[in-house]
Amino acid sequence: MRMVDIIEKKRNGKELSDEEIQFFIKGYVDGTIPDYQASAFTMAVYFRGMTNHEICTLTDCMMHSGDVIDLSRIKGVTVDKHSTGGVGDKTSLVVGPMVAACGVKVCKMSGRGLGHTGGTLDKLESIPGFQIAISQERFFNQLNDIGLAIVGQTGHLVPADKKLYALRDVTATVESIPLIASSIMSKKLASGSDAILLDVKFGSGAFMKTIEDARKLARTMVDIGNGLGRDTRAILTDMDQPLGLAVGNSLEVKEAIATLKGHGPKDFVELCYEASAIMLEQARVAKSKEEAMAMLKEVMDSGKAFDKLVQMVEAQGGDSSYIKDPSKFEVSKHIIEVRADKEGYVRRIDSLEIGESAMRLGAGRETIQDKIDMSAGIVLNKKVGDKVHAGDLLCTAYTNKLGVDDIIKDIKEAFKLDDVEVKTLPIVHDYIH
Ligand code: URA
Repeated sequence: MRMVDIIEKKRNGKELSDEEIQFFIKGYVDGTIPDYQASAFTMAVYFRGMTNHEICTLTDCMMHSGDVIDLSRIKGVTVDKHSTGGVGDKTSLVVGPMVAACGVKVCKMSGRGLGHTGGTLDKLESIPGFQIAISQERFFNQLNDIGLAIVGQTGHLVPADKKLYALRDVTATVESIPLIASSIMSKKLASGSDAILLDVKFGSGAFMKTIEDARKLARTMVDIGNGLGRDTRAILTDMDQPLGLAVGNSLEVKEAIATLKGHGPKDFVELCYEASAIMLEQARVAKSKEEAMAMLKEVMDSGKAFDKLVQMVEAQGGDSSYIKDPSKFEVSKHIIEVRADKEGYVRRIDSLEIGESAMRLGAGRETIQDKIDMSAGIVLNKKVGDKVHAGDLLCTAYTNKLGVDDIIKDIKEAFKLDDVEVKTLPIVHDYIH
């Protein structure tokens, strides 16, 4: 078999055989297929797409390119949640404790942030001492003892995706449904959970700009997961404004803590309840959404969900005094208020602009080697639908950098105002399973 023939076949829009897909993944991981052929291949997939059968085969080959975690030592159903990446998305920090407090095992392998979206691991590392790399033995014991662990991926999980994702990032081939679906699902399947909930975002801050594309991606991933024997469901959620109010690592951890204490922003609280309720149904501890919602309300009101976060932080070496007293988190040296020039109703808050501005203030990295400023970011004071008067506070920027006038200008421009009243919609636009 020759890679050039496989590239040509895909370039001409033909369906590849299982053997041809296996040949590509094996050869790319062992280095016999060079980057230039892999880039031509991913570009051919970008333009020609893949059939459902090809996507399933690609996912399966990628999943088996490295370790596949066996969670059979964990008692009970294990569930995982994954977001396709958004701005201000700290959902795992709240949903994990909520679901675990209801007795379900939540084992989550997360990633780091790159570009305008933040990563759960970076957020957790803003808690002094928190370790995202723990031994497998400790990971299993922690799951059996407290039912919750959020860790980084082990070194040898889906090496095919590590190479391919890095390549796609620099060859303009990230936004392809077959490539995104196989990338995400190969990692989720290799992580071993029995059930997977996918939060597929759409809007300016997301990979998928329209709800139609988000629906196609969700359908593809749900079919792959269910086809390979895992209960996989998805929700489609709006990224036409950042989620909640806080964007930036320790700022988001503080918002997660406030939410677990019952003081979260409305859209974020709504998403946490919706996602958690589905996970309880997937784990079969709740028979209906109503029953799940009642269980979740109980663990939130009683403080059990908050206690679960404290337990996880302690189990992973973090200083839980920061969780109990969030005022201990370091605050940036420069705090800049961004105010409205005119009046109107907030129609949209460009998530991409806010995410990129937070990154430029120090909250994110442009390259994987960049160091993050944990205290930097943006806290919104207005959300979509709010009435704004000239001079009102739109948001507050936090940074340790000087000379950020251009960034502040961009942040202000991210707020799109309208003369007429703007109706807000529920955060979850659709459910796929
Ligand atoms: N997240 C992933 O893990 N892979 C993609 O391709 C896109 C988002």
